[in-house]
Amino acid sequence: MKTQVFAPGSTIGIIGGGQLGRMSAVAASKLGFHVHLLSTETPSPATEVAASVTVGAYDDPAALEDFASRCDVVTFEFENISAEGLALLEKHRPVRPAGEILRISQDRITEKTRLFEIGVNLAPWRAVNGPEDLAGLETLGFPLILKTTRFGYDGKGQFRVPDAEALAALKDLPYPLVAEKMIDFERELSVMVVRGLDGTVRCFDTVENRHRNGILDVTLAPARVMPDLALQAQDMAACIAEALGLVGIMGVEMFHAADGSLMVNEIAPRPHNSGHWTMDACLVDQFEMHVRAVTGLPLPPARRHSDAVMHNLIGPEDMARVPAILATDGASLHLYGKAEARPGRKMGHVNTIFPHGALPGELALEGLLPPR
Ligand code: ADP
Ligand code: MG
Repeated sequence: MKTQVFAPGSTIGIIGGGQLGRMSAVAASKLGFHVHLLSTETPSPATEVAASVTVGAYDDPAALEDFASRCDVVTFEFENISAEGLALLEKHRPVRPAGEILRISQDRITEKTRLFEIGVNLAPWRAVNGPEDLAGLETLGFPLILKTTRFGYDGKGQFRVPDAEALAALKDLPYPLVAEKMIDFERELSVMVVRGLDGTVRCFDTVENRHRNGILDVTLAPARVMPDLALQAQDMAACIAEALGLVGIMGVEMFHAADGSLMVNEIAPRPHNSGHWTMDACLVDQFEMHVRAVTGLPLPPARRHSDAVMHNLIGPEDMARVPAILATDGASLHLYGKAEARPGRKMGHVNTIFPHGALPGELALEGLLPPR
């Protein structure tokens, strides 16, 4: 089961109904695969484009069994499936990436522990299991950041602590937490790494990410860093993928610290928002790479034919820009089909493409999209 290859015509089961599932399903259909989804609700961004759906909770054994019986190989866009749910799926079908990798990435403590064992550089951190662990955090240094160990995304479940006074004033925190030293970073970088069933590893170019209100705002591809640093980031991502025995794609978020060092922030063993630029700047994008990896098809080099700037469209304010974006030459629009544009919700993204090596300077970046 571990090495089974699935030819086009097979059915890929995707867990999760969001935009990552939607874009994975479109990539799967491009290669002639069928897609069966497990989603808690329909319609959802992914159910709109999949051939069939099991509607149910992600840890309901009956829903998981029904889902597994309708597909040949299972992957996921949603990371918070329970350990029992994963074990049940793995009993029935190959799950790629393996449930064990998902289990590691679900919890910031297991994730950091495993990354430390692998030997990559991390921001200094401590586990904080209860109020009794707070006093010891002074040794990390300030400012620091506390994060819930599970279910955090888009900066949710995070508390910034500027100094000892603020630390002493903290009350009723949602333990367990991890504390990290706030890194004075030059840039945030990320690498999409994919590893195939035969062990082939491919890395897309190292990119630069900018956040707004804790949510990814812009990705610049490639990152504007020295080539050796970009390569070092890719080597780090490849090393993690190999150590974990990954099959599929994974996003590796990093800090390029002011002292020049690279630190891994977190990993996400699935397609990732910071890889959306590949949809218009690479012949084979992150979603197709993922589909190829989980079905055991060959992985071509992750080559970039153009430079790209990806802008996320967040909430009602960015949806109001859509008519103007549609009328903008050079803007490739991707909408996720979400009915309601709530504040802070990712509604779509726009890729603007430039000739290889011609990524515009800082000032020109501002003018790429119509203003908010
Ligand atoms: P999430 O799971 O919400 O993406 P992250 O750990 O990636 O959580 O944190 C979200 C953002 O917060 C990061 O992209 C970064 O901008 C900032 N951040 C998180 N941890 C640190 C840190 N130790 N030092 C500096 N900035 C941080
Ligand atoms: Mg993150």
